[in-house]
Amino acid sequence: MPKRIPVVEKILSANDRIAQENRARLDEAGVFSINLMASPGAGKTSLIEHTVQRLARQFRLAAIDGDIATSIDADRAAAAGATAIQINTGGQCHLDAVMLRDALKQLDLIEFDLLLVENVGNLVCPADFELGTHKNVLIASIPEGDDKPYKYPGMYKDVDALIVNKIDLLPYIAFDMDYFRRGVELLNPGLVTFPISCRTTEGLDEWLDWIKTNARP
Ligand code: MG
Ligand code: ZN
Repeated sequence: MPKRIPVVEKILSANDRIAQENRARLDEAGVFSINLMASPGAGKTSLIEHTVQRLARQFRLAAIDGDIATSIDADRAAAAGATAIQINTGGQCHLDAVMLRDALKQLDLIEFDLLLVENVGNLVCPADFELGTHKNVLIASIPEGDDKPYKYPGMYKDVDALIVNKIDLLPYIAFDMDYFRRGVELLNPGLVTFPISCRTTEGLDEWLDWIKTNARP
């Protein structure tokens, strides 16, 4: 079994090298980029729609959507006003740096200020594959339950910001926010957190301000 470890390290370091190249291309073109990760149904596409609609006047926006089989999410990002590129992963359950590199080739990067990458809905392996984006953001949601930081620590421990979506459902679901936050704090102390509802738009302004502070068009 120990023989397998070097192979995994080799694959990951190859990914990291390409991620660094992606970052360099984005920096060169002046594109601020965010990798959005979450379980299926947490609200990645909804958040992209709101973000695109609200920032379209200030930023030239592109969205890259990773999906196992369909273009539903990329179509929604495009309808909201972004230039959208679809990556069909062909069954693979996460994006990697090679996939992002190939998608970036389809964009004239100099034409954009902000890139939103929607990773494949999955709370496990997307955390292991750096894409080269400037920020990694995790979207949790109330219906998933308050125990997810404890069950998926790898996902929570290295992200740069956390969105907690669907807070409008808090009155209807047994979700102990203190227990959830304690779990997050153990893994990622002081993590910037945005409780939001894509349905009511509560909390979206704080999220949009965070993007504006980090990205300078
Ligand atoms: Mg989606
Ligand atoms: Zn995977």
